[in-house]
Amino acid sequence: MGSSPLPLPHIAVFPFMSKGHTIPLIHLAHLLHRRRLATLTFFTTPLNAPFIRDSLAGTDASIVELPFPENVPDIPAGVESTDRLPSMSLFIPFTYAVKRLRPHFERALASLPTVSLLISDGFLGWTNDSASKFGIPRLVFYGMGNFAQTVSCKVAVYKPHAGVTSYDEPFMVPGFPHIWLTRSDLEPPFDDPNPDPKDPHFQFIVEQTMATGASQGVLVNSFYELEAAYVDRCNTEGVPRAWCIGPLCLARQTSPPAEKTGWMDWLDSRQRMNRPVIYVAFGSQAELSAAQLQQLAIGLERSGLDFLWVVRAKAMDLGQGFEERVMDRGRVVRGWVNQMEILHHGSVQGFISHCGWNSVMESVSAGVPILAWPLMAEQKLNAKFVVDELKLGLRVRPSGGTPNGLVMSEEIERSARELLVGEKGKEAAGRARNWAEAARKAMDGGASWLTLEKMIEEVCVKRTTENAIVSAALVTAA
Ligand code: UDP
Repeated sequence: MGSSPLPLPHIAVFPFMSKGHTIPLIHLAHLLHRRRLATLTFFTTPLNAPFIRDSLAGTDASIVELPFPENVPDIPAGVESTDRLPSMSLFIPFTYAVKRLRPHFERALASLPTVSLLISDGFLGWTNDSASKFGIPRLVFYGMGNFAQTVSCKVAVYKPHAGVTSYDEPFMVPGFPHIWLTRSDLEPPFDDPNPDPKDPHFQFIVEQTMATGASQGVLVNSFYELEAAYVDRCNTEGVPRAWCIGPLCLARQTSPPAEKTGWMDWLDSRQRMNRPVIYVAFGSQAELSAAQLQQLAIGLERSGLDFLWVVRAKAMDLGQGFEERVMDRGRVVRGWVNQMEILHHGSVQGFISHCGWNSVMESVSAGVPILAWPLMAEQKLNAKFVVDELKLGLRVRPSGGTPNGLVMSEEIERSARELLVGEKGKEAAGRARNWAEAARKAMDGGASWLTLEKMIEEVCVKRTTENAIVSAALVTAA
């Protein structure tokens, strides 16, 4: 009698409801499918399901929709993702709403055939208890790099900023004598050495951190070579283990889209004219103020550079007559673009970015240098890593020495030109190309490729094998 091969492990994936946290897990789904490493079920809510369903096309992943709670204080009806929140100040109430998915999630989990692993977002700490209840290991996905993760941990534990008296006085990060930060580099509650234990944001962070600590590991969208010192430090000192399996944006084999957008045609025209383009985009949720958008418009206009600018706020005024005046060398897109496709276009040679970690990984993978303009979350740490450590970019500085002040048009004009046509920009571009090659290798048989396999073997397959043996024993006994 021939033995049939063991079934592939089945993984439940539960992303947090924001694009930046969902997109890399979708890439992971494509990778696991293509490499025949696992089958998948994705958990989401009804209004997020269409995006996930479209993005998972071509995989055999199934989707379970959990009903989003109604009548949640402060959260407008019909909002099921952070990019639709009227303001990011509603983030914490949003997480309370999301927590109410738990009974639905557990009922759905119970109805699935054997689940070998739960991969859930770091902001869904409560899923750790659900996984434990069902005896399923959980890996956490934060969507952050190792640098930001390690530095934040060191600061939170050792409080080196307790000894400074102002937001711009530098302090050293314990264990990393070459890293100096100021409190302005950190977001609340991390910027405060003695956060109020009753602060809901602080409580949220503590809760997620405890749940991460109790999980089986952290999946990181990065590759070993890029952040070796920080990965090693995480894995020798930190619990639980970090598995670097990225850049996940390279997981999918890209094929040309069925229909070409106007802006991709326009980029083609720039390439034919041998004119480099600077791409300007700030991710899926950050909003620039009207005053800041106008400074950016003036800076781009005065720079004389060709640019492609993605503006989230559809009705936002960029200054009278701006779009007409720059028509022959600039494009403004209001809406969703395929950022990966843009960054890989041969004409795009610089990226003005807020340094969300996905954008950093996408720029690194495409070999495009960055003009770092961090806005929120861990973006200032990412910007520091990109500029000071990887040296593949430059940074804009807000006016008046205040970290959250306006970035004036003169600064934008000067630094954008330096990135695209200056000496420093050329050096950064050379390094970016080298990193792109390293990223490709990591995903194509290199460290990330092997780590993913190892993770499945250690965390997942073992359990499936044990289950198969237990199930076989039960069947035999019956
Ligand atoms: N993105 C995109 N098109 C858009 C806006 C964003 O494809 O019009 C993608 C971008 O490529 C990245 C993600 O959305 O994968 C944004 O994640 P990131 O970490 O850069 O920033 P966040 O939105 O989380 O601040």
